[in-house]
Amino acid sequence: MKCIICGNSDHQKLFEGIVKCSGCGLVFFDQDLSEDEIKKLYKEGYFKGEEYCDYEEDKNILQKNFTSRLKDILRYKKQGNLFEIGSAYGYFLEKAKKYFDVEGIDITEKPTAFARNKLGLNVHTGNYLDFEISEKKDLFCMWDTIEHLREPQKFIEKISRDIKTGGYLFLTTGDIGSLVPKMQGRKWRLIHPPTHLYYFSRDTIKKLLEQKGFEVLEIKHPGFHRSLSQIIYALLYLKRRKNSEKAKKILKLIDFPLYLNTFDIMHVIARKK
Ligand SMILES: [Zn+2]
Repeated sequence: MKCIICGNSDHQKLFEGIVKCSGCGLVFFDQDLSEDEIKKLYKEGYFKGEEYCDYEEDKNILQKNFTSRLKDILRYKKQGNLFEIGSAYGYFLEKAKKYFDVEGIDITEKPTAFARNKLGLNVHTGNYLDFEISEKKDLFCMWDTIEHLREPQKFIEKISRDIKTGGYLFLTTGDIGSLVPKMQGRKWRLIHPPTHLYYFSRDTIKKLLEQKGFEVLEIKHPGFHRSLSQIIYALLYLKRRKNSEKAKKILKLIDFPLYLNTFDIMHVIARKK
């Protein structure tokens, strides 16, 4: 596969299936999955056990993380219209609507139906690349989404067209250039093909955004909230690609929230030039 940032087809192998571009250093999964294959990865099981322990039950923890993201946003802008790509159940938009006119899109059916019907949010089911936006937006958000995309460069390109000049893009993703992945290699918890296809670093995300007309204002490494049950579940089951309802029930009994910072997640804040 050609590199989506520099076009180079010369790569070095990092791990099984994962390569690093010799031109710009971008790390990615070197297999071109079809859109259909990708869509199949995000059936209901994805949010229940396969990648997230239980997205619906962990709402409180997730919203704590989203509240921190929202605080970062409010430092730059306090009102306007905000569009989220990869909005899942709508938990972020539910928080953000106190300040912004919110709208979202996600390819999954059940979570978007939940966001519309239960939370009353303006959320679409589908691929953002095929979506026609009604008017240019002040803000775009993509939380832990860009690493899942088959063609992230096209998303950034379209956001660049759909955002106002001076508008802000906020996104989070893993930072493969940080210390933990350097130490853990293939065992880093975010090395997760084929749901994670792209592994950006500060350097490569900056290159991609600058190519598409953005100026990167800030890249920070925020901490995050996790429930103890999520952590244990990830250690025991996810790495072995297993799902266990029984284990989840037991873990719920000993659950409590924790705040961690492993400095391997980056929050990138960029402005459209
Ligand atoms: Zn490259």
